[in-house]
Amino acid sequence: MSVRFFDTRRRALVDFVPMTPGEVRMYTCGPTIYGLAHIGNFRTFMFEDLLRRYLKYRGFKVTQVMNITDIDDKTIKGCNAKGIPLDEYTQPFRTAFFEDLDVLGIERAEHYPSATHHIAEMVEITQKLLESGHAYKADDGSIYFRIATFPRYGALSHMNLAELKVGARVNSDEYEKDAVSDFALWKAWDPQDGTVFWDTPLGRGRPGWHVECSAMSMKYLGQTFDIHTGGVDNIFPHHENEIAQSEASTGVPFVNHWLHAEHLIVEGRRMAKSLGNFYTLRDLTGRGIPAVAVRYLLLSTHYRQQLNFTFEGLEAARNAIGRLRDFRQRLTEVTGEGAGHPDFAELITQSRTGFEDSLDDDLNASGGLGVLFEFLREANRRMDAGTVDHQDAAQALRFLDSLDSVLGVIKDQTKSDSSDAEIEQLIRDRENARATKQWARSDEIRAELAAKGVILEDTPGGTRWKRKL
Ligand code: AMP
Ligand code: ZN
Repeated sequence: MSVRFFDTRRRALVDFVPMTPGEVRMYTCGPTIYGLAHIGNFRTFMFEDLLRRYLKYRGFKVTQVMNITDIDDKTIKGCNAKGIPLDEYTQPFRTAFFEDLDVLGIERAEHYPSATHHIAEMVEITQKLLESGHAYKADDGSIYFRIATFPRYGALSHMNLAELKVGARVNSDEYEKDAVSDFALWKAWDPQDGTVFWDTPLGRGRPGWHVECSAMSMKYLGQTFDIHTGGVDNIFPHHENEIAQSEASTGVPFVNHWLHAEHLIVEGRRMAKSLGNFYTLRDLTGRGIPAVAVRYLLLSTHYRQQLNFTFEGLEAARNAIGRLRDFRQRLTEVTGEGAGHPDFAELITQSRTGFEDSLDDDLNASGGLGVLFEFLREANRRMDAGTVDHQDAAQALRFLDSLDSVLGVIKDQTKSDSSDAEIEQLIRDRENARATKQWARSDEIRAELAAKGVILEDTPGGTRWKRKL
């Protein structure tokens, strides 16, 4: 069975066919670093993490590029308002973004190019478009893409150019769908830009946002590559413009598969900085919510459905992770000798197939989680009945770990101040203290462990521990 994705351009589920067998080259529009990313942004980045992890699970070698938008209307406005250089303004947000990725367990892409380091490539594309008549220079020195020269304009977002009024030019990076317009490839320096400009063969100025992604994707992935992703708000105008610039400058198709994630919404509206209805990851972890619960919540709704953000949803995610982790722990404690039961092996095989069928079907992670919980219930039932031996449990653990390479929620991946070894040493110290009836010392260690977020459970077989979720 092959992997199928819903392709925005073809408006259909299509088999994923990579250009080079066994390899995937994909581009994901990254963050604009004028502030902290909010969890709406992370919904899209989490979908891309799932996509990347599942393609790897399916044996593909993945090369993922995520750009960092450090030049656009918003970053320029921000640094000028503060009166500091652009790099100085964006740097803290860049650092915070990578910290948040780690906290959420989002795997690193292979390349994170920044727009500021790729001006030459953007100038080159713009020059080519000028030479071929796809672009023109306006009186103020800005350069625009002439959409009338690109008949396929609108094919991604399914707009019919003939039916739409073709607006004049737009200079801003983001604009609405009420009219399709020639858009800026290069913006001539304007006093409002302050110190943000580059002197280039195109004159003094800076690139428009859309051409940044064409330049950085093609530089690292080639003129044609397999997958391009983003949130649905990127479809128009951003991705439509990327296609026009790229294909008009190279003459070959730009991208084979376009995948877009639906929005995360709060009380019926898209979470957005401009609406002021957003939470950053730090807002949530600051309230004591574990990052892995945010991860689970973002993964558990199909990426093409809107995700309604609620605190109840986060609580449910936290409970689900608790159940999965308790289950894993229980499996590690199965001791019964035996050669494994064929029907247990069969249960694992069926569950694996169920999980893969779901994920193959346009990354249906909620379906995959359903299969996993079905497995949990059945395996727990058999453990209760005493029909699971050590061999079975070992196989189940391998199975869980392979699914978790995609989900990233079962094994504790949160960064902790204390390693497992340190915690286990403290537990041994506490056991020694108890053995020698040093109760005060034993309580002290228990309190120290509690402060580290470790929960102890004294059982007849010794002390069990887990990290607090
Ligand atoms: P930006 O930093 O604004 O360039 O956005 C980064 C990514 O987040 C883009 O792919 C957007 O489509 C995506 N995005 C923005 N808001 C949301 C939201 N509420 N839900 C899901 N994705 C979003
Ligand atoms: Zn982009």
